[in-house]
Amino acid sequence: MAQLLLLPGKDRSLILHHPWIFAGAVDRLIGRARPGDTVDVLAANGRPLARAAWSPQSKIRARVWTFDPEEGVDDAFFKRRVQAAVGRRRAIPDLREQEGLRLIHGESDGLPGLVADCYGDTVVVQLTSAGTDKWRQAIVGALCKATGCARVYERSDSHVRRLEGLDPVSGWVFGSASAKALQIAEYGVHMKVDVVNGHKTGFYLDQRDNRQLTRQLAAGRTTLNCFCYTGGFSLQALAGGAPSVLSIDSSGPALTIARENLLLNPQLPVDRAEWREADVFAELRALKEDDRRFDLVILDPPKFAPSAAHAARAARAYRDINVFAFRLLNPAGLLMTYSCSGGVDSDFFRQIVGEAALAAGREVRVLRRLSAPADHPVALSFSEGEYLKGLLCQVD
Ligand code: SAH
Repeated sequence: MAQLLLLPGKDRSLILHHPWIFAGAVDRLIGRARPGDTVDVLAANGRPLARAAWSPQSKIRARVWTFDPEEGVDDAFFKRRVQAAVGRRRAIPDLREQEGLRLIHGESDGLPGLVADCYGDTVVVQLTSAGTDKWRQAIVGALCKATGCARVYERSDSHVRRLEGLDPVSGWVFGSASAKALQIAEYGVHMKVDVVNGHKTGFYLDQRDNRQLTRQLAAGRTTLNCFCYTGGFSLQALAGGAPSVLSIDSSGPALTIARENLLLNPQLPVDRAEWREADVFAELRALKEDDRRFDLVILDPPKFAPSAAHAARAARAYRDINVFAFRLLNPAGLLMTYSCSGGVDSDFFRQIVGEAALAAGREVRVLRRLSAPADHPVALSFSEGEYLKGLLCQVD
């Protein structure tokens, strides 16, 4: 096995169990390794620290599989890690009943570069690192064994694969498509999941708890759901008793599924829902000009800042939509506002929302911070900024 020698003083983050080894920490590779091969990681003084997947094309030169320098990285290793991740979720009562569940959350489950989401009897995997790409068979085999699923679809079409020198890959890797369209129930609301063409792995599981909170808040509140995708928040708002729900998204295909999702749920009032295919930035302005007001506004935009380099531009975009959202709220109205940008951490996001409140001329209180559910754990060594963050705000 090749050895990856670190520069003096560059072992600190590894000792704190952060699994990424950046190019700037590497002295040299001793021996030969192909992308995805396992290498022994050594401190500058030669002390073994970890075993990692070598990724020569990425700025993250290696991602740690194990901080035990003796542990073998083989089929049995992936079986153990996958089984452990699935077992952790089974141990949390809230998660046991979920038909849509994240089984593997990358670094936080000790499997950097791997996401696996389960929708009923179907598992969707996303491999975004040279290491997971190399071990794909072991990973898929371990997932089948741990879940007993009927089929596995690969959605490795994320742009981040390019950073690792990998081409996009999508398709069935175990079993084949079911004749019936895939559906899950989320707290009694049925939703279609398009694992082939949908965003990410097909659905935004990270917003499950917040959609549930929307349901609790929606009774009697006229609701505006911006960036609605397939209608997750909208349907929960209707289930919670919202007198009207206006939903906006720029994606026609997402809105088509949203409408179909509503019809899948005969218990929900179709006549209280309005869907608009539009750009949220323009539509928020138009709503203000039309003098529309709402009691509950949801802003769940796509990632405006994938990394810190985009933070300034992203901050302007977040500020703009939040200013408009505050202006559209009735007295005592609620705003649920989110960011999933790695480049904007939770304190920065709070500051942006605070500036938006001032610019909108509203007095605003933060009632709660909002985050992802327990199937999206965050490793202590990781910055919380990498993940979903949100605020529930109330205006005077
Ligand atoms: N809240 C959703 C997930 C939102 S994902 C859920 O709970 O499932 C972000 C959505 O924003 C996507 O559906 C995308 O089509 C939409 N989008 C991106 N840019 C947009 C824009 N400028 N205007 C309107 N919608 C946009």
